[in-house]
Amino acid sequence: MEEVRTQVAIVGAGPAGLLLGHLLERAGVANVVLEHRSREYVEQRVRAGVIEYGVVNFLEEVGAGERLRREGLTHHGVELRFDHTTHRVALSDLADGKTITVYGQQELVKDLIALRLALGAPTRFEHEVVALEDLTGTTPVVRAKGPEGELRVECEFVAGCDGSFGVATRSIPGSTLRRHERTYPFAWLGILAEAAPTTEELIYARHERGFALYSMRSPTVSRLYLGVEPSETLEAWPDDRIWEELNLRLATESSPNVNEGPIMERSITAMRSVVCEPMRYGRLLVAGDAAHIVPPTGAKGMNLALGDIRVLARALVAQIREGDNRLLEAYSATCLERVWRAEEFSNYMTQMLHPSNDDFENGVQHARLRQVVASREAATVLARNYCDLNGL
Ligand SMILES: Cc1cc2nc3c(=O)[nH]c(=O)nc-3n(C[C@H](O)[C@H](O)[C@H](O)COP(=O)(O)OP(=O)(O)OC[C@H]3O[C@@H](n4cnc5c(N)ncnc54)[C@H](O)[C@@H]3O)c2cc1C
Repeated sequence: MEEVRTQVAIVGAGPAGLLLGHLLERAGVANVVLEHRSREYVEQRVRAGVIEYGVVNFLEEVGAGERLRREGLTHHGVELRFDHTTHRVALSDLADGKTITVYGQQELVKDLIALRLALGAPTRFEHEVVALEDLTGTTPVVRAKGPEGELRVECEFVAGCDGSFGVATRSIPGSTLRRHERTYPFAWLGILAEAAPTTEELIYARHERGFALYSMRSPTVSRLYLGVEPSETLEAWPDDRIWEELNLRLATESSPNVNEGPIMERSITAMRSVVCEPMRYGRLLVAGDAAHIVPPTGAKGMNLALGDIRVLARALVAQIREGDNRLLEAYSATCLERVWRAEEFSNYMTQMLHPSNDDFENGVQHARLRQVVASREAATVLARNYCDLNGL
């Protein structure tokens, strides 16, 4: 068995784990990233794509935003479509000039891996963490299985950045962990297509047949979603059916069709809201999807994960380099205040845009949508939350 010593063992090379590794490297804190999947796999995994204003600035400030600033698509507004009419929410007018940037999560992951490898920071792909031990002692141990056999990492702190099905939150005893969860009665079928975007801005559509979202990743690649039953399978959705349904749900009189093209990737994702409290157990700190899930309607998941990491990196550096434990003691409470705001916003967007079988619920949804397009105050709340809820 191989044995390694470090200051912080980071479980997971998603956006959260990689940004934490980067910030710790910059501060001179030794760390190891352990990732179950291969480098190729995490660099190709298509997921989020909307990055908040403050998060973009923060990434640039810490030397991780150069390509993001160059290649990311800056958006000043989004469209809301309902009752076959489109309404523009002028994000930057309403949110003090703030914008959002469209940049694929996998591109940010590639940038962070490249920065890490350029510094020679230890990164173990294809290493599945199987156990976290002695989390309440002074020297926790992380056990992993890799291509060459078992690895044992002794450290001062463990950062659980291993997503919603990882080992970190499972290592917190049930007597300590409180898990708050809501499952929604719909899922999203998402596609990535080689098709030039039909519009310049994202379109959130509530149609009586279901939800649809039009977004893009670059001037030649579109990312589109359909709200579907949670029990749906990809086999039931051949390409023609997907495009037909997208055209039905997104059509307006002035733009009846979306640009179609070969579908490069497709998946069905269940809609869930989850919050795990507390986000700390002894020397284990959990961050990102490991601690909380939001339905993607508010585009908050990756932003929240990166927001946690900003708080966590500062806390770990203060503890390890200066022996100051105050930020670490406050870590869970500091993050959870922001996490619950993001849960509220994501729940609001989700409930407003997915038609229901319940007529009362549909009436409430219409009232909310009409309020957003008729009231500057309501649109301002949406725009500020959408552009910069994390306020980094
Ligand atoms: C379809 C979809 C659309 C989305 N759209 C948006 C959006 O528009 N905007 C937004 O902000 N968010 C969005 N999200 C959410 C966003 O993708 C996640 O919130 C984000 O990936 C969280 O980052 P993370 O680093 O916490 O977790 P992850 O990205 O899940 O990374 C966790 C890593 O840990 C690894 N791992 C797991 N278990 C182990 C183990 N035992 N040992 C070692 N490694 C392990 C995993 O392989 C993974 O690489 C979307 C998500 C989905 C699914």
